[in-house]
Amino acid sequence: MKQVLQIQAQLITYAPPFLDPNFVAVKLIGVCAVQCKLRQAALIFSQLADPNVFAWNAILKAYAQNHNWDHTLRYFNYQLSSPNVAPDEYTFTSVLKACAGLAAVLDGCKVHAVVIKTALNSNIFVQNSLIGMYFKFGNLDIAQLLFDEMLIRDVVSWNTLVSGYSLCGNVELARWVFDKMPIKNLVSWSAMIAGYTRLGNLEGARQLFDVMPERNVVSWNAMIAGYAQNEKYSNAINLFHEMQKTGSVRPNDVTLISVLSACAHLGAFDLGKWIDHFISRTGMELSLFLGNALVDMYAKCGFIAEARRIFDKMQERDVISWSIIISGLAMHGHAEEAFDYFFEMLECGVKPNEVTFMGLLSACTHAGLVDKGLKYFNMMDHKYGITPKIEHYGCVVDLLSRAGRLVEAEDLINSMPIEANVIVWGALLGGCRIYKDIELGERVVQRILELDSEHSGSYVYLANVYASVGRLDDAAKCRLNMRENKVIKTPGCSWIEVHNTVHEFFMGDRSHPLADKIYATISELVFRMKLAGYKPKTDLVVHSVDEEEKEDALSTHSEKLAIAFGLISTSKGTTIRVVKNLRICNDCHEATKFISRIVEREIIVRDRSRFHHFKDGKCSCNDYW
Ligand code: ZN
Ligand code: ZN
Repeated sequence: MKQVLQIQAQLITYAPPFLDPNFVAVKLIGVCAVQCKLRQAALIFSQLADPNVFAWNAILKAYAQNHNWDHTLRYFNYQLSSPNVAPDEYTFTSVLKACAGLAAVLDGCKVHAVVIKTALNSNIFVQNSLIGMYFKFGNLDIAQLLFDEMLIRDVVSWNTLVSGYSLCGNVELARWVFDKMPIKNLVSWSAMIAGYTRLGNLEGARQLFDVMPERNVVSWNAMIAGYAQNEKYSNAINLFHEMQKTGSVRPNDVTLISVLSACAHLGAFDLGKWIDHFISRTGMELSLFLGNALVDMYAKCGFIAEARRIFDKMQERDVISWSIIISGLAMHGHAEEAFDYFFEMLECGVKPNEVTFMGLLSACTHAGLVDKGLKYFNMMDHKYGITPKIEHYGCVVDLLSRAGRLVEAEDLINSMPIEANVIVWGALLGGCRIYKDIELGERVVQRILELDSEHSGSYVYLANVYASVGRLDDAAKCRLNMRENKVIKTPGCSWIEVHNTVHEFFMGDRSHPLADKIYATISELVFRMKLAGYKPKTDLVVHSVDEEEKEDALSTHSEKLAIAFGLISTSKGTTIRVVKNLRICNDCHEATKFISRIVEREIIVRDRSRFHHFKDGKCSCNDYW
């Protein structure tokens, strides 16, 4: 950009008479557009005494290319009112894109009318843009009609139809068109794959992917992103490894963002770190999105210091970047630092959003800072005009309930402008359990069962309450009810990454090739733990009322399997990192403390709500989670 400005200065100073100012302006505006310097582009354009159609097209394209649709339409209006510059096919390509981007149906139809008046309605570029626009409006009939009326169609016309139908969720029709296309190019295949993955049809997408005659990075990205967006994180990572094995396709930032999100979810730290090195090694630019993905990966894999290092290195930060670092610090229990970052964010002039406040509230929850939490909660609406969502209410109810302020929690639920869901009531139920408020508890259970008659946590809670006051018949009835209603719980699942491969374990899982060794290790550990004073918590009372797992397989919860596998497959002293999809249960938490001391290893478990660093028989959460 600096050199562009120098060239411009030269041109102003010397202005060679033989140079057409329009010609120069087109070039300069083009460069500015690529650099996202739209103000500069507009300035250059405004200096032109008599802009020709090329200059107009350049400024329209500059705005359209940067998704600044409003300005694209504004300049088009200026152009229409200036004499002697008739719009051409390039003009309409930008303008129709802007109408589509704004979903401005009326403007779109008006532009269509201008197209017809300028007799460009048989131009293939314009026709393709029109079809794309009507698809964006959801007006499939007109899009199809325009396509049918075309005398000549190129591969772009067909692709517009395929991606149009798949964007509108009509993947069967898209497939029908796809199969009929006379010639397919890489874009056609990728559009079709994206159409399938958008609807969660990963098999359909993969079948196409596997038979593609050739693949470029966009095709790989479509499939990898498809897996990541549909929460098939191990598939995303495996496919990324396959992509690297081809040796011919180089990952770009879109690839890396998908893979990093998979790493973040699975705690696949080795691969995440490899990507970080890959970025620095290849001199790839750390764009905003890539930086955000990297910070998120480090934070979720338990390396908050690394997350901060990347965050500090980022050239550009948006509200998402700040929210990621604040939530990351909260998950690690660094509440004060999370608040510091929040103030720094405000000083940088970045306006917080609802995600930022989720991070702040969860920082308060993990540290038990009730009044501070209430302060932030009130600030949301009063100071920033952000209407709290159900998640925010859930967080505050949780905060109050854990602190024993059950009346306030119930009042808050009753004053909510939106209807409370099972999670919000469940948070209050958790408080009732800790503070043994049987009367309120029964009321809450009733509300929960109204919303979800199969809510397992409520049955477990009631059974416990009845058992604790000696009403054993009622307790038994409760458990029977639960079995009859076939209450299905989310299966607990844990992941551990060893030597670049992510291993997945479910409760009582015997599918792993080393299952025998894993179970033998657990038995041995239990024996040594009992010698050290460990007592298995076999009672029904588990930490979280809505997420606990079946109590009868206590010794084989997925996190125990993952930890045991980690112990036998890594060398002495290596830190073990496990990710679990639910909250860790009381027993596993207690057991892991013992294991960390017996085997002298640091064990880090990320559960659904936070990080637990187990070391020397203690956990960083101080048993508060
Ligand atoms: Zn457990
Ligand atoms: Zn803990």
